[in-house]
Amino acid sequence: MPICAKCNNDVSKVYDCDHTNDQEYCTECYTELHYYLTEEK
Ligand SMILES: [Zn+2]
Ligand SMILES: [Zn+2]
Repeated sequence: MPICAKCNNDVSKVYDCDHTNDQEYCTECYTELHYYLTEEK
């Protein structure tokens, strides 16, 4: 099982993109990251 780089939870699916610095994030952390990114603009 992949582990989220942010919350260290075992999750079934992880995501990564330029914003995560090549680290794998769970759905929740990934969504939260992009939520803040879009809010800043
Ligand atoms: Zn997470
Ligand atoms: Zn992104």
